Amino acid sequence: MRAVIGSAPAGPARPRTRVSNRTWACVACGKTYRRDQRLPGPVICAICRNPCEYVHWKMRVPSPKKAREWDRFWRLYRSERRELERCFRDGNVEEVVLDLLNMRILPRLKRPGTSDGRR
Ligand SMILES: [Zn+2]
Repeated sequence: MRAVIGSAPAGPARPRTRVSNRTWACVACGKTYRRDQRLPGPVICAICRNPCEYVHWKMRVPSPKKAREWDRFWRLYRSERRELERCFRDGNVEEVVLDLLNMRILPRLKRPGTSDGRR
């Protein structure tokens, strides 16, 4: 506990800390966890003991109470993640737009002399 120093105006207690929390989510349990970003991940779900999914700060996760939206979101998220991994693995892909991550992957410039040059 830290004492409040100075003449802070009375109001809702909302400390402005510089510590940014990361959000983790257990998809199966429909639970989100906030964790200090300096702590090592992954977060383990308190209910099912499985590692949680890391939620990128750009992503807006629907409320777990809205089961349908929640499921839809994570299905999409996983397919985007798969797509992303495939891009990094293959190296040559079409343009990929990941709405959830707000990312756009452009195909790498074709290097001359690659063995599978399509002609
Ligand atoms: Zn869980």
